[in-house]
Amino acid sequence: MTERSSKMVRTDDEWRQKLTPEQYHVCREGGTERPFSGEYVDHKDAGLYGCTGCLRPLFRSDAKFDSGCGWPSYWQPVDDAAILYREDNSLGMSRTEILCAHCECHLGHVFPDGPPPTGLRYCVNSVSLNFAADPDTE
Ligand SMILES: [Zn+2]
Repeated sequence: MTERSSKMVRTDDEWRQKLTPEQYHVCREGGTERPFSGEYVDHKDAGLYGCTGCLRPLFRSDAKFDSGCGWPSYWQPVDDAAILYREDNSLGMSRTEILCAHCECHLGHVFPDGPPPTGLRYCVNSVSLNFAADPDTE
């Protein structure tokens, strides 16, 4: 039996070594970068956004849209199994937290106010993402 979604498990020390302090705060402590501060907010190149913790693909550039919310926003992930969904009732709000299913890096939240066809807005911290441009198709 192949284990398709085997988890990556790292100790807290290992994460602290692998990530920058800002990445650690967002990915492992569920922090949020300041709106419009992230490097991918207005990023429009074609490619794949992977998880900063484990580099597994999470979102494609063609599912990215300009939500105006200040964080990179996508209307669907590359694969629903790539994302872990968790109820988040912090800050007096009822939200759905999204995490990388592989390494449980905190990504952001998903909201039901996105564009068609999904009507979803995956609102993700740039810090949680690692962009890889598509290879040139010549
Ligand atoms: Zn990950």
